[in-house]
Amino acid sequence: MNVDLHTHTYPASDCSHISFRDYIAWCVEHGVDAVALTNHGDVADNRRLEPALAAEGVLLIHGVEISTLFGDFVVFSPDMDFLSTFADIQDAPRAGELPDDAAVVWVHPAAGGGRSGSAYYPGLERMVAGAVDAVEVYNGSWLGERYVTTAEQIAAQLGAARTGGSDAHEAGHLMACYTEVPDPVRSTADVVTALKQRRTIPHRPEAPRKRRFGRF
Ligand SMILES: [Zn+2]
Ligand SMILES: [Zn+2]
Repeated sequence: MNVDLHTHTYPASDCSHISFRDYIAWCVEHGVDAVALTNHGDVADNRRLEPALAAEGVLLIHGVEISTLFGDFVVFSPDMDFLSTFADIQDAPRAGELPDDAAVVWVHPAAGGGRSGSAYYPGLERMVAGAVDAVEVYNGSWLGERYVTTAEQIAAQLGAARTGGSDAHEAGHLMACYTEVPDPVRSTADVVTALKQRRTIPHRPEAPRKRRFGRF
């Protein structure tokens, strides 16, 4: 199943312009089966959107994005109470500190920390080794060759899974990049398992852009 593993909604992410109504409508219109909502240190929209999306047959995957000294990370977990303990700016996850049902994706690593203002420098990956399950190699906002190449190198160096996500803050950008997750994807737990088993395949737009997701 193709899943956008990085999206933001308003109001939980005040930088996003995607309302609940637009988010749901876009997913339904484009035949999205599952999408991850990864707001900045806030899962309030996840709680509210999950039932509304489920009513339309769209599965919501739960994650939260944090900005740290080492960059931005998305933590995925089926445990909403656990996810609600994260703040938008906070310490980086440390190896061995997270429960087994959580997975950590280092998102747009070469672009640095969006809310922490931290910058990437070569060798930084050693600071997070062991705490990261996956690296977002394709981010809809950071598709420049430098960002993609660096992210690919980091993923290889860490032996981590690779993901793609739109990082959409506008509805039209949803699914701009996405991740192929092996079926079945029934819950956030299935996505966590796929990340830990390094069985994800990232996708970015091609020219001409193909629509390979959805129920068509
Ligand atoms: Zn970010
Ligand atoms: Zn983001």
